[in-house]
Amino acid sequence: MSVQEPIIAANWKCCLDWYEVQSFRDWLSATKLSKGHLACFPSDCYLSYLASQTQPSVTIGAQNISVHEKGAFTGEVAAFQLKSLGVERVLIGHSERRHVFHETSGLLSQKLSQLVAHNLVACYCIGETLEEREAGATLEVLSAQLRTFLEVCETHKDTPFTSQSWVAYEPVWAIGTGKTAELEDISIAHTFINETIISALGHPLPLLYGGSVKPQNTCGILGTPFVDGVLVGSASNNSETFGQLIDEAMR
Ligand code: PEP
Repeated sequence: MSVQEPIIAANWKCCLDWYEVQSFRDWLSATKLSKGHLACFPSDCYLSYLASQTQPSVTIGAQNISVHEKGAFTGEVAAFQLKSLGVERVLIGHSERRHVFHETSGLLSQKLSQLVAHNLVACYCIGETLEEREAGATLEVLSAQLRTFLEVCETHKDTPFTSQSWVAYEPVWAIGTGKTAELEDISIAHTFINETIISALGHPLPLLYGGSVKPQNTCGILGTPFVDGVLVGSASNNSETFGQLIDEAMR
């Protein structure tokens, strides 16, 4: 059986132009989920437009945040600026930030702290590389990546950050490759993540799976233990495919 209130999150990465975003907005306005929750993470340049033009039930989140508070940091977008646009949630730790932009756990911790300081919440992404998986180190890697996030939660217990953030398990080798993790592997990872979060915080957080999610595998993934939603890259860039994926999630 599929999860009762699935979270369907679209990571549009650096892919859509202004015209595509406008038609997506029209499509989003016409899309009503029969259950669960829809979230979109567009590029920063579209945040203001989408945050003001999209129905309030759709979360519009940012893909990144500066570690800096404010000031002479050309090209950066700070937490207070996102907050002033109505943004509430930010992707932190996405594999492309970790591996293409070499973001370290120290830097990610500073970004998470910026969220706390501005009453924002995270969609914190973790996942092992193929090498780490083949070396049998998956759970060790997830544990270390989770530690960065949980340390911030533990020092800021009574905050929206600690009670409302999401964690997304996204095996690096499954992102943008068309290869999805086996349901058994997703189940092992999500069970471990859930137990780790509960033992640190005393309560669960919504857990998303990401990595080549498409309409054909959505139902199976959402039926896996401790999967509360999906984080979707490529398949969210086209409203027809994304619509089919949502239909599958509503079953
Ligand atoms: C992602 O970038 O978060 C992602 C899951 O991408 P894709 O669905 O294309 O694998």
